[in-house]
Amino acid sequence: MRDDFDTRWHELTEEIISGMKEWRLQHPKATFREIEQALDERWAKARARMLQDAALASAAADIRAAQAEERPVCPKCGAVLEARGTQERELATHHNQVVRLERSYGVCPECGEGFFPPG
Ligand SMILES: [Zn+2]
Repeated sequence: MRDDFDTRWHELTEEIISGMKEWRLQHPKATFREIEQALDERWAKARARMLQDAALASAAADIRAAQAEERPVCPKCGAVLEARGTQERELATHHNQVVRLERSYGVCPECGEGFFPPG
């Protein structure tokens, strides 16, 4: 991992705990389903954020940072991809949360195809 997420991830879970306590005090007559939904919404936000952080920590997320032997190759011809800047991708995950991933974009020097490396 290129980053230490301990502090940020602890903050996310602390927000869930304090937010849930607050919500419960404001909704003393909430049903089981309502409590479940309030909890799921909060976990979904933290989950999406952790997913984003963990995905961006992958070495493959940045071609330039990767060592030569682990640099991604073209799935068609096997040539080592050349970095061509970064592009942002948006992925939807549980509870309509959007994860934004800034990934290196690679171009094959042999066949000219462009790829987002997996990982
Ligand atoms: Zn190729």
